[in-house]
Amino acid sequence: MSKNIDRYLNKHTSQAFTSRHTHRTKIVATVGPACDTYDKLLELVYAGVNVFRLNFSHGSHEDKAKIIEHIRAINEIEPYNVSILADLQGPKLRVGEIENNALDLQIGDILTFSNEKCVGTKEKIYVSYPNLAGDVRVGNIIMIDDGKIEVRVVDILKNGDVKVQVTLGGILSSKKGLNLPDTKISLPALTEKDLIDLEFIIEQKCDWVALSFVRSVKDIVILRSKLAERKSKTKIIAKIEKPEALTNIRDIIIESDGIMVARGDLGVELAVEKIPLIQKELIRKCIHRGKPVIVATQMMESMIERVKPNRSEITDVANAVLEGADAVMLSGETAAGNHPALVVQTMVKIIKEIEEKEYRYNREDDLKPQTHSPSFLSDAICYNACKLSADVDSKGLIGMTQSGYTAFVLSSYRPKAPLFIFTKEQTLVNQLSLSWGVKAFHYNEEISVDDMVTDQITILKERGFLHSGDVVVNTGSTPVHLHLPTNMIKLTKVE
Ligand code: ATP
Ligand code: MG
Ligand code: MG
Repeated sequence: MSKNIDRYLNKHTSQAFTSRHTHRTKIVATVGPACDTYDKLLELVYAGVNVFRLNFSHGSHEDKAKIIEHIRAINEIEPYNVSILADLQGPKLRVGEIENNALDLQIGDILTFSNEKCVGTKEKIYVSYPNLAGDVRVGNIIMIDDGKIEVRVVDILKNGDVKVQVTLGGILSSKKGLNLPDTKISLPALTEKDLIDLEFIIEQKCDWVALSFVRSVKDIVILRSKLAERKSKTKIIAKIEKPEALTNIRDIIIESDGIMVARGDLGVELAVEKIPLIQKELIRKCIHRGKPVIVATQMMESMIERVKPNRSEITDVANAVLEGADAVMLSGETAAGNHPALVVQTMVKIIKEIEEKEYRYNREDDLKPQTHSPSFLSDAICYNACKLSADVDSKGLIGMTQSGYTAFVLSSYRPKAPLFIFTKEQTLVNQLSLSWGVKAFHYNEEISVDDMVTDQITILKERGFLHSGDVVVNTGSTPVHLHLPTNMIKLTKVE
């Protein structure tokens, strides 16, 4: 055992740690006015949130800084390693503020979209894109709020105003997004606003940054180089919501650190009936590459207002879990809904029902290590560690990682045994909260493998995750000081 072991013990009350958060499919919750105080965020963490999403389409940097401070404070006192996902707006057109935050649009109403800032009324609505009049044609369709409202362009005026007629009515509120399925919008992947937001995200050391409307792998490469310039350790999520991204999906998955199936915009940019199979396929491909994948949008939408979800929503969450998503996401349900904590509790119940009864664990045989892969040998260790762990019905599969790679690979096998990851990279501890089944711990000792394994088991025992007599499987790398990829498996019976 290490002489520093005390540093890792008694840090948190083990009772709280073990009794909560037993769901293995993770939950991402969007933060907004309905949950942005310290107490409400803590309530959501207790309910089961693993990752908070900050949507840079809404709110100010000042608000975000406050929220980040709260999350960091929660991580100081609670052992959940809650992660922060910063979501860049990307090249999305939005309406501005709307008078009283509600405008009742009826079929046939004629509206004016203007590029001059104003509070939106039936007379005039601001749209955040100066070249709207240049890009659209009469007859083009514009969808608003993920397609809940639809209008058609009827006139384009010389002053840059665009007259539209409502073809699908509804209540329009502030800052809702516009999609123009039959128009090519000339905006870069990272807009001026995104670059300013990115600066803030890097300064704040957010764990993950999501890039919206990814069209090609180049978009990811550009973001990656901006992060590298600033020596940022923030990892990248590519939001898949454009048809173009689907044609380049292999490269996009390889170049990104994770993927979000952003069904909101995807369902507007593409025929809605295509979503279910795209979701299935994206999840399969991400698991195959060991990249975390999030299923997002309208998962529990009816709970924005109501206290119980629709039957179809329950089935939707359950199916995403069955398909093997790393995480399911809540948007308006937690950001602007009436019962943020209840939504999370309900989601946890759905996830646990599946995971206890029907989940397909131990998928390593779908993902046999590939001889031609540069990581073949360490993949083979991880693959066999999972197999061994299943064979001996181990109570813990314990991995060590510096780059995160071993953690992502072990997680991708969806092992039945609880998965514990030890790393000296402090940033990884929170980043890994997004990955299926991973519980990560900071551990920064460089001693003999035997001592490291003993330490890790001691820590897990003290926190109540392991008990005397349990069998555990460890992966690691020897000789320790060479920092090689994972090359060792050890089987231990806990004393
Ligand atoms: P995106 O296209 O990035 O998903 P969105 O507008 O659909 O953008 P979501 O985060 O998916 O946003 O949904 C949250 C909803 O909650 C928003 O549509 C908005 O009406 C409301 N909201 C209000 N304030 C905020 C805020 N500060 N952060 C997030 N959502 C907010
Ligand atoms: Mg959305
Ligand atoms: Mg979106």
